[in-house]
Amino acid sequence: MSHQPLRLPPGRDIRLSDFDPGFHGGLDRADAEQETRHHCDALDELAYRLYAEAKRAVVVVLQGIDTSGKDGAIRMLASGISPQCLDVRSFKAPSAVELAHDFLWRIHAAVPAHGRIGVFNRSHYEDVIVVRVRKLAPPHVWKARYDQINAFEKLLADGGLTFVKCFLHISRKEQRERLEDRLRDPRKQWKLGPDDLADRERWDDFQAAYDDALTKCNTEHAPWHIVPADRKWYRNLVVARLVRETLERLDPRFPPFDSTLLTRLT
Ligand code: ADP
Repeated sequence: MSHQPLRLPPGRDIRLSDFDPGFHGGLDRADAEQETRHHCDALDELAYRLYAEAKRAVVVVLQGIDTSGKDGAIRMLASGISPQCLDVRSFKAPSAVELAHDFLWRIHAAVPAHGRIGVFNRSHYEDVIVVRVRKLAPPHVWKARYDQINAFEKLLADGGLTFVKCFLHISRKEQRERLEDRLRDPRKQWKLGPDDLADRERWDDFQAAYDDALTKCNTEHAPWHIVPADRKWYRNLVVARLVRETLERLDPRFPPFDSTLLTRLT
C-alpha cells in the first residue's frame, strides 16, 4: 500500500481494522530519521515564535494502548522544542480529589497557556476508553461524554487552542513483542502492572472503544489522526511532521519591533 489516510472527514466511521499499523509509506529508517530531525529543528524556531507571540497555544494529545509509543513520541518532541515552550502532562488513574470533580476538571487545569505547546500523555479520552472497558462507570455516564468532550474541545479551540490529536496505532503482534521485551528487562519491567496484562486480554474491547471515540470525537475543530506506530521511526516522523505543519499553519509572529528602544539604551 503506498497511501494511507492519516485522518478521515468528520462524520465518517473510523474502524481501526481498516488502518495498517505497519504502514511506512515506502520510506526506510535512515531517511525517516533524517526527515524527523529536520522537522525537530524547524519546530524549535516555530515554538519560539509561538512563545514570543503569546496569543495562542497548541496541545498534542497522545492516545494509544500500552506500549504504543507515547513516551517515545514525547522524547522526540522534547529533543526539538525548548523546555521553556513545552508542557508535558501525564494522566494516570484519577486521584480521590480528581474523582470528586467532573472528569474534565483535571484536563482543563492542564491546558497550556497562550504561547506554549502542551503534550498530553493520555488525556480525557481515557474517560471513554479505559473507563468503558474496565467498567469503571455505568454506560449512561461514559456515553454522555463524547458530546461533552466535543463541546469542551470547541470551547478551547474558540479560545485559541489548536489540537493535534494522535492515536498511536500498533498491532496486537507488535504489542506482544514490546510487552515481552519489557517483561524480560529489569530496567523496563517496573513499567508494567497486572492491569496492563489484563488489558491486553481485552484487546478487542479496547479497539471497539477506540473506534467509537475516534469516530464520535473526530471534529472539524479537533480532528483525530491515526498514526501507524508499529515502526517507531515512522511514528516519530508522522508526529513531528503533524506538529510542524500545525505550527506553520498558525504562523506565529513576533511582537512588533520597536526601533526607538535602542536609542533609549543608556
Ligand atoms: P503509562 O502506561 O501511561 O506509561 P501508567 O502505567 O501509570 O502510565 O498507566 C496509567 C494508567 O492510568 C493507565 O492504565 C490508564 O488507563 C489509567 N488511567 C488514565 N486515566 C484514567 C481515567 N480517567 N480513569 C481510569 N484510569 C485511567
